[in-house]
Order: sequence, then C-alpha cells, then structure tokens
Amino acid sequence: MSTEERALSIVIVGHVDHGKSTLIGRLLYDTGCLPPDKFAEIQKSSEELGKRLEFAFVMDCLEEERSRGITIDTTQTFFKTPRRRYVIIDAPGHKEFLKNMITGTSQAEAALLIIDAFEGIRDQTKRHAYILGMLGLKQVCVLLNKIDLVDYSKTQFDRLKGEITDFLNQLNTRAAFVLPISAIHGDNVANRSGKTLWFDGPTVLEALDTFEELKVEEKPLRFPIQDIYRVDGKKIIVGRVEAGRLAQGESLFLLPEKKSVTVDRIQKFLSENLRAANFEESVGIRLKGRPRVKRGQILTADLSSKITDAIDTNIFWMDPAGFQMGETLLFRCVTQEVSCRIEKIYRRFDPAAMEWVEKDASSIQGAEVAHALIHLEAPVVVDSFNDIPEMGRFVLEKEGQPVAGGIIL
Ligand code: GDP
Repeated sequence: MSTEERALSIVIVGHVDHGKSTLIGRLLYDTGCLPPDKFAEIQKSSEELGKRLEFAFVMDCLEEERSRGITIDTTQTFFKTPRRRYVIIDAPGHKEFLKNMITGTSQAEAALLIIDAFEGIRDQTKRHAYILGMLGLKQVCVLLNKIDLVDYSKTQFDRLKGEITDFLNQLNTRAAFVLPISAIHGDNVANRSGKTLWFDGPTVLEALDTFEELKVEEKPLRFPIQDIYRVDGKKIIVGRVEAGRLAQGESLFLLPEKKSVTVDRIQKFLSENLRAANFEESVGIRLKGRPRVKRGQILTADLSSKITDAIDTNIFWMDPAGFQMGETLLFRCVTQEVSCRIEKIYRRFDPAAMEWVEKDASSIQGAEVAHALIHLEAPVVVDSFNDIPEMGRFVLEKEGQPVAGGIIL
C-alpha cells in the first residue's frame, strides 16, 4: 500500500462520559467525513430529545449500522485531513474495547487521551493511560475536553495539565501535546477557538498530523503458520505476515525446531504468484521439499527470536474474577497455543491507585497489573514486545475465555 493510502490508526481513550463519542462525531463532521444522511438522522434524534446537535449519536448510528450488518467494516471509522487518512480503531464504550487494545486486535499508532476538564482525572483515565504506557505508545495527545464547562479557563487548564503531566511521568510516558478543547462546540478540534486565545498550541487535527506512521516493514520477518491446506496433493501453508517481508526463493527457519526451509511459491487467494508478501498480508506459501509443518510454528529469516518455556511478562488482568496461584491457563501468542501456569508473581500493581499492592503475591485481582513469570508446557517462539510487538504480546485464557493480556519483557 502506498503511504498516501495508508491510514494512521488512532485510539480514543478516557473515562466514561468524558466525551469520546462526542469527539468522534465532531471529528467526522468537521472533516466532512460524515455521510449526509447520517447527519440528518443525528440532527433529527437530537431535536427529538430537545438537544442541540448531539455528536455522541454518531457512534450510536454507526453502532446500529454495524449490528444490522450494513457497514462492511465492523470496527473502523475513517476521517481525513489534507495530510492523510485516519482510522479510529474500535469504538469506545464497545464491550471489548480494552481487551482489544491489550490483546492487539486494535493496534494503534497514536492515542488521544480525553479528560473532562471539569471532572479531572478519574480511575479509568489512569487505567487507560497506564495501558498506553505499557503498550509503549509514544504518540499520545491529551485532550482536556469540555473546556466550555470551566469557562475556557486558562488557570483550570494549567492546573490539570500539570496533574496529567506528573501522572504520565510516573508511567515513563509523556504527552506530545495537551490541548484545551470542547468536542461539543468544536473548539480546537478542527478549528482554532476564539475563546482560548491564551493557548497557542495546535488543534487536534494539527497535532495528529505531526505524528508518524510506524515503520513496521523494516522489522525482521515473522510468519506464524495458521493452517495447512492440501490442493491437488500439494501442501499450502497459510498465514499472515506479522512482521517484516516474505520473499520468494528466500531461505527461512522453521521454529521452534530451527529447521532450514526455502520458499518455493507465494500465493494469494484468486491471484497470480507473488514475488513477496508484506506486513499484514495473508498469503499461502509452498516450501521446497516436503518439510513437516504444523499450525503454531513460526517462519523467520533469522534466529533472533527467543525459543523458551519460561517468560518474563507484564500481565493486565481483565477478568473481574481475578487469578489464584495454581490455576491452569492457555497461553496464546499469534497462532501458538500452549498450556501454561503462572510460576511466580513478583509484584502486583493497581493502576488506578498507582501503587504496588503486594510483592511475591499468590493472586491477582481484576483490573490489576502483575509482573510475573509464566511457565509453559512446551517451548514457544516469542520476541520482546519492544522489538516486535506482534510477537511480544499474548492472551491468557481460562476455560475458553480470555482472562488476561500481557506483554513479554
Ligand atoms: P463518552 O462516554 O466518553 O463517549 O462520552 P460522550 O461523548 O457520550 O459524552 C458524555 C456527555 O458529555 C454527553 O452528554 C455529551 O454531550 C457531553 N459532552 C461531550 N463533550 C462535551 C463538551 O465539550 N462540552 C460539554 N459541555 N459537554 C460535552
């Protein structure tokens, strides 16, 4: 895909009711990316409720379309600026939102952290900020929303800006920008506000336009095997390029066995043979000879991955029921699925209180983070999250349900 076509993926996070949906509506409306019929529908719903234009309805409208199966793409909302396209991945308020963020279903390149300027920082603000830090998201813009509710006050803005900056410092992360906005009135979203003349920073769109797309293609190849098909007696290995680039004729390693193999052909459904497949492309390949392959193996061009049955991790526990030492879990990382147990919980941490709760613990509560050692029943192929995020994040399942997500340190 060319750079012009590629959309920068963003997430909008923050405490409930701080204005995420309203901001999405405003972004779509001000960039002319809201279909006219949608706009009329929203106007009508707002009038019926005796409200001024309620941008939060945009999300409801899109949500309803999704549930009726009208929109093909179920989780993505686009808008554009003169510089490029943006995709807002996943919907705030969506049940799986946090889970998708942690497990990497929603991989954002930048984040907007929204805080109600009247209410200030709340628990979810802290949890979301913590997760952004844990996921290593560097391109973060903090929006102090509802600035209209504090009479566009510079004093209130400066106070909150100080608080959030201190908080983010503790997480070893920082905001590239902190902006005073009103999503509902459109102040400093697409257009500079006449009511915050004391502020000389960018609008939300200008801030987003300074962010860079992540250069994922330059990473070393990781091709997890998803499935094996037999077509006319030939083995087609199917998978998705999770990092780097796969080329025809290339010699690769089949991990964890470290067996050398060579790519014979690369094919895509209903298309000619390909010379190469790029990051995020799903393809079928044939290898020379008849090596034994199975789901869960990883094809790489180098031996820099870690092959191990013990991994040092940071885990975010999503299941409200929490975890008790001794429970057996299923570890999932790309197409690898291996039974595991948590061998040691070095420390557990409450992101809302920003406190280490306990050292050498025997349990983890819901919404807590733990630094823990996981022991796997068989070796897996992983990378550290910092090197190759796709191979450095995992999900833990209990009885078929995802209960935690984590990253490999
Ligand atoms: P979400 O839960 O974070 O998606 O929050 P919503 O977008 O649903 O907003 C919650 C409420 O705050 C709604 O009633 C919005 O109309 C209101 N709201 C959102 N942004 C603003 C703003 O900039 N100013 C004011 N005064 N109200 C806002």
